[in-house]
Amino acid sequence: MTNLAQTPLSDRLRALVDTVQHNERTLRRFQDVELRLIGAQDFASFLETLFVQLPKEFALATVCVWLDDRAPMLRDLLEPGALRSLNLHNLRTSREGGLAASRLCVAGRPWLGRVPEMDETARSAFFGDTGAPASAIVLPLAAGGKVSGYLCLGSGDAGRFGEGMATDILERFANIVTASLDNVAHRERLKQLGMTDPLTGLANRRYFDERLREEILRAARYSVPVACLFIDVDSFKRINDTYGHLTGDRALAAVAACVRQQVRLGDTLARYGGEEFAALLQGDRSDALVAAERVRHAVEQLDLQDDHGERIALTVSIGVAARTMVGAAHKAAGLGQLLIEEADRAMYQAKHNGRNRVEVAGGDGKS
Ligand code: GH3
Ligand code: MG
Ligand code: MG
Repeated sequence: MTNLAQTPLSDRLRALVDTVQHNERTLRRFQDVELRLIGAQDFASFLETLFVQLPKEFALATVCVWLDDRAPMLRDLLEPGALRSLNLHNLRTSREGGLAASRLCVAGRPWLGRVPEMDETARSAFFGDTGAPASAIVLPLAAGGKVSGYLCLGSGDAGRFGEGMATDILERFANIVTASLDNVAHRERLKQLGMTDPLTGLANRRYFDERLREEILRAARYSVPVACLFIDVDSFKRINDTYGHLTGDRALAAVAACVRQQVRLGDTLARYGGEEFAALLQGDRSDALVAAERVRHAVEQLDLQDDHGERIALTVSIGVAARTMVGAAHKAAGLGQLLIEEADRAMYQAKHNGRNRVEVAGGDGKS
């Protein structure tokens, strides 16, 4: 083979590799933003990620969001009193804005193109009178066919968003924004209802018990398994005695954040008592065992330091209980209680067997 014949191929190959590497870098940066959105503890940090981090990472001239203040989930979030202290610069809620965006996004598809070609109402709804970018993409924020808002990304480059551009990565991103918004709205609602624990930011026991009943009902309706982890910090009294109560508080918050990272977004995790956490997972006993072991290991690896920079070693003992509910809806409350008692007993077994362990409740696991 001559060099001549090879050149076009290797050029093409290099171009392909460049594209793949570029896509990979883009995906990785998206992932950073996505992780921050998913992990947002409140509406303020959700907006901060969208309005500050996103434009910085992707060299965007502007990012704005239109949200439907009539959507049940968003109603409280967008209530004027609640918004007072937030960065609202690019948050829109006007009815005309929503109508204009829905006209642009025909059949729920993203709209993209040059901003001067956008219709007047949509342009002023998104960008106001000044500072319109050269090109933009408008992405519906929709779940289950219901649109709760629109995300608009604008660029100073007239050719950046235009017909023929692949939008799959951005559509996926819009899905993450929608799910995170839902999560944040839910968290804010729990706070309003007094169902969160201020030290750890987790749900509290009152919320957990309510969710437990609902989850058992759901599991019974669909005959699917549900699992519970009961997590107790080992020898925590000694942590307080050694490092003081304030450091103890900090340790509890660190354990809570660590456990949260090991369970799924949709799983319920609560501070059940002083140094005790409970998690409700969708899955069977072996799924729950895997999750429990992941939690145990992550806490053991936690790098927490005291005021002098000395590492504080922390471990947890975890009890696991799981059951497949079959058509026992009327017994939901009792079964939920049973599940948590089993997990609690298994946790005590883990203490008895030496701590920093996972133990699983016995029985056939059917109710
Ligand atoms: P074990 O391994 O058997 O669980 O030992 P333990 O010391 O963790 O268990 P014990 O129940 O004897 O002590 C729990 C301690 O947790 C005592 C309590 O003061 C402390 N604690 C509970 N809530 C908080 C809190 O909010 N902040 C701090 N700093 N400590 C707390
Ligand atoms: Mg305890
Ligand atoms: Mg303990």
